Amino acid sequence: MNVDFASLRQQYTKYQSEYEEAALRALRSGWYILGKELINFEGNYAAFHGVNYCVGVGNGLDALRIALMSLGVGKGDEVIVPANTFIATALAVTETGATPVFVEVDKYFGIDVELIKDAITNKTKAIIPVHLYGQPCEMDSIMKIADDHNIIVVEDCAQAHGARYKGRLVGTIGDAGCFSFYPMKPIGAFGDSGAIITNNNELAERMGMLRNYGSIVKYKHEVIGINSRMDEIQAAITAVNLKYVETGNDERKSIASRYISGINNPMVALPETRPNSDHVFHVFALLCSERDRLQVYLKDHGIQTQIHYPTSCHLAECYSELGYREGDFPRAESYALQELSLPIYVGMPEDEANYVIDTINAFI
Ligand SMILES: *Cc1c(COP(=O)(O)O)cnc(C)c1O
Repeated sequence: MNVDFASLRQQYTKYQSEYEEAALRALRSGWYILGKELINFEGNYAAFHGVNYCVGVGNGLDALRIALMSLGVGKGDEVIVPANTFIATALAVTETGATPVFVEVDKYFGIDVELIKDAITNKTKAIIPVHLYGQPCEMDSIMKIADDHNIIVVEDCAQAHGARYKGRLVGTIGDAGCFSFYPMKPIGAFGDSGAIITNNNELAERMGMLRNYGSIVKYKHEVIGINSRMDEIQAAITAVNLKYVETGNDERKSIASRYISGINNPMVALPETRPNSDHVFHVFALLCSERDRLQVYLKDHGIQTQIHYPTSCHLAECYSELGYREGDFPRAESYALQELSLPIYVGMPEDEANYVIDTINAFI
């Protein structure tokens, strides 16, 4: 049997007429940037989260970058980020001129809240908790530390659309919540796009300017902005996917429970869910000390897997100048060597999940 790591084909077929109607409506409108579709999407996205504002942008990296810029993060500032995340979290910090300061992660793959305090200096301006793999971070502790030290919190929700911490949707807890709609994310576009949510009207206004050359009134440039807008076609399509985020999350959660109850190979450590957090399993991450051999074995049995991520951010070549060394964050580094992501996607047939379970259980 062949098992894809992920596929959008099933989902496309399921909602095909809605996608095609939305895309055609946008195409036929004669207006392609900053139009009705974006206004509609932003309204729906804010309403879904119960917040006042949503600003659609070009991608998830820019969502983080614009959120940081709108909060005044720049040269000379430090921003705390987890050592185990997708590199975009750190790149957004670097793009503002600020410096990423990496912090070790915990057994749930999120930033270790016990270690955040040690990383705070008088230059620390913000923390970016990443709800990695779809699992919310320990937000109460993070917000408490941030309040105590007068630090901003920008949530990286790029893998966790619709996930809840103590019943609250991620992105609504910090000063701003940043989302990617890269096609495979829990809510995806059919191209690049992203969004930022916030309750702060001044911030929302600044984000609106920053994404559009620093301007709201045409040719009146109030701040140094960038060009990063969610286009009308992506807005129309993403509005369709927003309607089905909970259906999709439930489907992945049920595949995850199937894996968790079925996989019993002692060589494999299954992901644990943090108390108070509702994990939406964008990624099903297991740990295995013989990860590379397991990956090859699964591939030989027709099962595609991925590694999220093979290098911790503090050891990425692009950050060599920051001076981090191997051994600085042992847990993050062990994840880079041991993590393996199993196939999980909307429309994944049950027999494929069962085949993955049986094949892993037979690994020796
Ligand atoms: C995908 C992702 C991003 C970046 O989103 P893009 O839309 O690809 O720019 C940022 N942070 C995390 C954790 C991600 O997974």
